[in-house]
Amino acid sequence: MNVFLTSNIYRLTLLFLLVLPFNVFSQDVTLDKVEPPFWWTGFKNPDLQLLVYGKNIASTTVSVDYPGFALKKVHKVENPNYLFLDLTIGSAARPGSATIIFKLNDKVVGKYIYELKARKNGSAQRKSFTSEDVIYLLMPDRFANGDATNDNIAGMAEPLNRANQDGRHGGDIKGISDHLDYFQDLGVTALWINPLLENNMVKYSYHGYSTTDYYKIDPRFGTNDDYVKLGDAIHQHGMKLIMDMIFNHCGVGHWWMKDLPSKDWINQWPEFTRTNYRAGTFTDPYASQSDSNMFVRGWFDNTMPDLNQTNPYLKNYLIQNSIWWIEYAGLDGIRQDTHPYPFKEMMAEWGKRLLEEYPNFNVVGECWLNYPASVAYWQKGSKNKDGYDSWLPTVFDFPLYDALNKAFSESEGWNTGIVRLYEILAQDFSYPNPNNIVVFADNHDVNRYLDSQKDDVRKLKMAMAYILTTRGIPEIYYGTEILMTTGPDKSGDGTKRKDFPGGWAGDSRNAFTAQGRTETENDMYNYLRKLIHWRNSSEVVHTGKFRHFIPADGIYVYFRYDLKNTVMVVINNNEDAKTIETKRYNEFLKKFKTGNEIISGNTLNDLSKLTIQGKSVAIIELK
Ligand code: CA
Repeated sequence: MNVFLTSNIYRLTLLFLLVLPFNVFSQDVTLDKVEPPFWWTGFKNPDLQLLVYGKNIASTTVSVDYPGFALKKVHKVENPNYLFLDLTIGSAARPGSATIIFKLNDKVVGKYIYELKARKNGSAQRKSFTSEDVIYLLMPDRFANGDATNDNIAGMAEPLNRANQDGRHGGDIKGISDHLDYFQDLGVTALWINPLLENNMVKYSYHGYSTTDYYKIDPRFGTNDDYVKLGDAIHQHGMKLIMDMIFNHCGVGHWWMKDLPSKDWINQWPEFTRTNYRAGTFTDPYASQSDSNMFVRGWFDNTMPDLNQTNPYLKNYLIQNSIWWIEYAGLDGIRQDTHPYPFKEMMAEWGKRLLEEYPNFNVVGECWLNYPASVAYWQKGSKNKDGYDSWLPTVFDFPLYDALNKAFSESEGWNTGIVRLYEILAQDFSYPNPNNIVVFADNHDVNRYLDSQKDDVRKLKMAMAYILTTRGIPEIYYGTEILMTTGPDKSGDGTKRKDFPGGWAGDSRNAFTAQGRTETENDMYNYLRKLIHWRNSSEVVHTGKFRHFIPADGIYVYFRYDLKNTVMVVINNNEDAKTIETKRYNEFLKKFKTGNEIISGNTLNDLSKLTIQGKSVAIIELK
């Protein structure tokens, strides 16, 4: 009874807080949005800038009455329906509800209750994802439909259509939280979930890369509260949550597109102008101005307006939005989409401000470039000739992805086959921190690895063994563990993002369980599972040094080692089994007598010769 009463009082209070800000002040003035909708005390940076939106809101005068919470400046912009409020949260400010007062002709016409929350203990010092982790990437619309009641929501432009590979299929947050035991069984330790923010677009809304509200989870995925609870549950399962963010563009369906704060909020062109997608223009010393300009200011798509992050209000808006989600949802990391496409000075400021508040925080940027030097430019601490420091701790290893997709399917040559992996890592001198790079065989934007290897499962196993033992942070795309492929129709992004079998009521089988998987799928699942669990407990693979030997006769050997342990990895890229003499590797092997091969479980009592099956990887813990 008491609980019921308390919770009802709580609800009434919430209702009061929610209703007040949306009061219509008078016929000519409204207040529709205040963003961020709430904030916290106790950040290093005391400054906060609020976006206030409402009809003729700029005609009001604003004041704040709360100890330690001071309004420093009110900015008006081109559009009278916006105000930007500069506030400071001084050390005297205590958590509580501040009141922002709006007056018209000296008469109070409305109030907004602005909540200042207390930060959780240890929030600033939170750990983040590191090379200890194995990231599992999933597309929420395609993973599992845990709640059929949110499949269609009134007011959302695109309804459910599971028959359309580019339509919404109904997957949601509940579908993810229902399978936390599955992730744990597989062994992955961090979830990178493709964007969950509102995408109220007419078409292609399922992938989530056309944000229409930066502060709201798409209701077809769930509520903001559901997302917070998902984060809590992920943490209770000992895993980490990585949020996908997009600063380069929003969706044309974004609420502000109907009424921009100022023309320069987005990059305007006389007619639709697409970016040239050539991220290399940033670092190209010979790039023409028009190419560079088109890269940064061109639109990613005609439905994705290019945001102008040089606008100081938009810059603050996006930076605060990240901090808000980290603090609100307890994030363990961020993945930033199309990282080189926004203005790079803003992106550096973003990274710097995140790291000032959360010194251990990790952010991985999608810098999709084909050469290590080009990618390395974007990693924090890079000694770039132009003096630029991105403040982006982590990048994706696209050059290694490219090499990995070729290495096992080509004939061996001076520049082809297994040597590609060797050559890419030999360029690690470019990176300030080569062990803080995300390594992957595929993701939601590219062909599934199994497709690029013409369904040869041996090569998929080789790729997984490689990314789980080389330097860096491995990322595995959902469905890899059950041999998911694009199938006969290989065209279109939708085929790379198929529904996980068993995620939908009425599916003919449930591949989340061993009984629902085929024999070959179980073989792959168990291979990955064994390797991931072994890696999770093998510190030497997380942080150990890396040393490799020039590949010869289709055999590539490398070692991971620290003061306590040494692991030898042998990749045989030949079709047939090979027996190798190991004296070439004596600088490592001379200390050891025996080894334990992880995948087979075999003990090796004679390390002078090793036999490796064709198209396979042996991972040997040396004793
Ligand atoms: Ca659903």
